[in-house]
Amino acid sequence: RRLPLDPSEEPGARQVKGACFSRVRPQPLTGPRFVAVSHDALALLGLSGEGVANDPLGPEYLSGSKLMPGSESAAHCYCGHQFGQFAGQLGDGAACYLGEVKVPPGQDPELLRENPSGRWEIQVKGAGLTPYSRQADGRKVLRSSIREFLCSEAMFFLGVPTTRAGSVVTSDSKVIRDVYYSGRPRHERCSVVLRIAPTFLRFGSFEIFKQADEFTGRQGPSHGRDEIRRQMMDYVIEMFYPEIQQNHPDRVERNVAFFREVMLRTARLVAQWQCVGFCHGVLNTDNMSILGVTLDYGPYGFMDRFDPEFICNASDNSGRYSYQAQPAICRWNLVKLAEALAPELPPARAEAVMDEYLDLYNGFYLENMRKKLGLQKEEPEDEILITELLQTMHDTGADFTNTFRSLSQISCPAEGEGGGEEELVKKATELLLEQCASLEELKAANKPTMDPRELAMLLSMAQSNPALFQMISDRMTISRQLDKLSRLKDLMETGQEELKTKQAEEWTCWIARYRKRLARELEGQSDVQAVQEERVRVMEGTNPRVVLRNYIAQNAIEAAESGDFSEVQRVLKVLEKPFSSQPGLELPARVGGGGATGQGERD
Ligand code: AMP
Ligand code: MG
Ligand code: MG
Repeated sequence: RRLPLDPSEEPGARQVKGACFSRVRPQPLTGPRFVAVSHDALALLGLSGEGVANDPLGPEYLSGSKLMPGSESAAHCYCGHQFGQFAGQLGDGAACYLGEVKVPPGQDPELLRENPSGRWEIQVKGAGLTPYSRQADGRKVLRSSIREFLCSEAMFFLGVPTTRAGSVVTSDSKVIRDVYYSGRPRHERCSVVLRIAPTFLRFGSFEIFKQADEFTGRQGPSHGRDEIRRQMMDYVIEMFYPEIQQNHPDRVERNVAFFREVMLRTARLVAQWQCVGFCHGVLNTDNMSILGVTLDYGPYGFMDRFDPEFICNASDNSGRYSYQAQPAICRWNLVKLAEALAPELPPARAEAVMDEYLDLYNGFYLENMRKKLGLQKEEPEDEILITELLQTMHDTGADFTNTFRSLSQISCPAEGEGGGEEELVKKATELLLEQCASLEELKAANKPTMDPRELAMLLSMAQSNPALFQMISDRMTISRQLDKLSRLKDLMETGQEELKTKQAEEWTCWIARYRKRLARELEGQSDVQAVQEERVRVMEGTNPRVVLRNYIAQNAIEAAESGDFSEVQRVLKVLEKPFSSQPGLELPARVGGGGATGQGERD
């Protein structure tokens, strides 16, 4: 399947010289049909979801099987660092641009602030071979398409910046996939997601300028790479950062301001992920948007029980992309972007920008967490209160989403409130205990995934030879396994009743602290009732009642694979109102769920 190289090209480069895309047409599907459409996302393009869904040609056009008039389809060529290594040219072997759509008149002015370019890029993901497909086929299957479709829209409605998804189409065209958990090759239906974003350009788009140097050892300008870098930067800044373009007549200053804005948006985005318990799973530089929006939904996962070491990507053995690693990994990716932008961006200036990252991230995170806890005032000790909340959640195996949602039911300690303080703390503790894991669930969550004998062998090797220990790529896995083992050991010596008592003690202790903090919110306030109401309003608009838990996506996928698309559509409806308490809009936490891991994309 590998497309022949032009013999005149330098090794490592494929197809394009002095360009960053190739014109290519999507491959038509046989019998395309809608699994679901997002009315809200299609409205961005001026399309009626209803109209499109009922149009027999709807699935043809939205899957790229038929090209819309005026469409200029193309595949974008980009590079990236995958799992810390520069991987050269790797994308886009699976997504094809259909072109751009002008923002229709009469839309929310807020939208223009978010997308000042005034138009949307539309792409079909899974539309077949492109010059960059390497050994693969450029197709996506129903599993991965439904996951991308649902999560794109879920994130938007959670208020997290993201690319959008207008529709998911499936078909009678088939590809063979090795499903890693069954181990048997399966014929699966080719499926296509229509993606929408101001732009899909990413950090990796700028890394193609590194390509020739890395593969040929050549330095300096060649093949007009410097010129394309300039053009691409000018394009991105003029289209998507017009204020920066206007305010900085000096080119270098403009570029620094641009990089700083990308840094800031990225820091804000990852803070939002952390606060909603979202783990991206594949934070390679090619999956980092140049606009600071969430990009590429593969093996992502929303945490059920809080675990800072949560990993949702089955091939991430070292935990490089674990939940707690995300802020540092995004920083690392920004440094790689800065390297790719040199010499347009002087390295010393980029370094100074990066020095701001940690404080900015912490600021966004704290601001968001204060909202989640309903704290309007800022106190330096808030950080400790938050850390202790997370620690308590981890120790007691508490559900991340549900615990935060429950916190608004803990009232501010006001005068004249019925019941003594002790009584109220007890009630709140009972509420939170409902979100905690049982002994069996905690044992399951702390079960080491590595064979104990293998672990013992690695440990003894590591102890006798520290240099070897350094070389074991699964070093982090080992420490995680050890942590789990010691937790498991404690659990083995604890009975269910004893565990409940411990969990209650931990929560009681935290709730008492929290209520003291809430009392300080009321100091100097005359209308206590109004403060309390505002607090609940903020909390309920920040702590979602539903997120796209893995099992929910999985149920919808399994139904769709057997031909029933109604669950995908129902789940989308619920995810469009994640903060609502309306009956009928529930997606309950898995009953008796253990430590959840996302199904890898692996298609
Ligand atoms: P990801 O790890 O999902 O970010 O994918 C990285 C790159 O792998 C994409 O940009 C594509 O170029 C390529 N890729 C992923 N899936 C396929 C596929 N089914 N066929 C061809 N290329 C693919
Ligand atoms: Mg990708
Ligand atoms: Mg992907």
